[in-house]
Amino acid sequence: MVVYGSEIAKSIKEEIALKVSGYLDKGLRKPKLKVILVGDNPASLSYVKGKVKACEVSLIDCEVVHLSKDISQDDLEDIILKADQDETVDGILLQLPLPEGLNERSALSKISPQKDVDGLSVDNKGKLFIKEDGFRPCTPLGIMEILKRSGVKIASKNAVVIGRSQLVGLPVAKMLLDENATVTICHSKSEDLKSICQKADILIVAIGKAKFITSDYVKKGAVVIDVGVNRVDGKLCGDVDFEEVKGIASLITPVPKGVGPMTIASLMLNTLKAYEDKL
Ligand code: NAP
Repeated sequence: MVVYGSEIAKSIKEEIALKVSGYLDKGLRKPKLKVILVGDNPASLSYVKGKVKACEVSLIDCEVVHLSKDISQDDLEDIILKADQDETVDGILLQLPLPEGLNERSALSKISPQKDVDGLSVDNKGKLFIKEDGFRPCTPLGIMEILKRSGVKIASKNAVVIGRSQLVGLPVAKMLLDENATVTICHSKSEDLKSICQKADILIVAIGKAKFITSDYVKKGAVVIDVGVNRVDGKLCGDVDFEEVKGIASLITPVPKGVGPMTIASLMLNTLKAYEDKL
């Protein structure tokens, strides 16, 4: 079965809009997301466009602050701090990567944990690892929503995560562990990756190498979530050879229309959570 994250994301945004309508009926304001974009990286511009559109559908106010790539670190951090102090702003998203010369970690640290809807602050990462309520990073959260909403049983299953990044691999592994999967994390130094993957009931692939996972890596009936976004001959593709693997997997997500839209839907979920936490 091919599971389109784009369809699940649509349902999530509709559910959020319904909740926000309820709040508006009670005389409350809409949730508000402030997006801070620095420079003109085409991929970032396109991601921000997607986020603005998703906010419209979810009835979330979205303000984009578009800054020059030449902004100083101090000025950028001042702008973030002002947004952080603004009572009408529920969530702040600093679009990454920042242009060369700007320090991402320092800029991100100016967003308070309560407004860190991207879940990238040290505080929210810590909360994930001590299993406390907080904002989970959007892509791992989106992956977990795909699994849950598709009725995938996670507890007691063998989950293999390829990739150990702070953004995807590491947090999704912890989230799977919290759902009682038996989790193996693989990376570029892992030996005999193929035989580890062949034991996976759930295989999460976040490497960044086009069509790296072929059918011989996948157990019959496995659930395969492809996080990778690669461009080959101008066309988007994932880390999984979709055409080869779709006949073996019991569930597979495509690229595009798979995990990507779920990342944005998770940002909407987190922004609603920031708003509701304040209420
Ligand atoms: P990353 O920070 O570059 O991490 C890649 C991970 O893959 C690393 O842990 C690396 O191992 C591992 N790796 C690389 N080559 C490998 C190999 N041959 N065998 C096993 N492991 C290997 O990337 P990321 O941020 O996690 O992103 C991964 C992919 O997901 C990218 O294509 C990115 O564009 C995509 N992505 C998509 C979304 C979305 O919303 N759809 C969001 C985020 C990322 P080492 O640690 O040993 O180097």
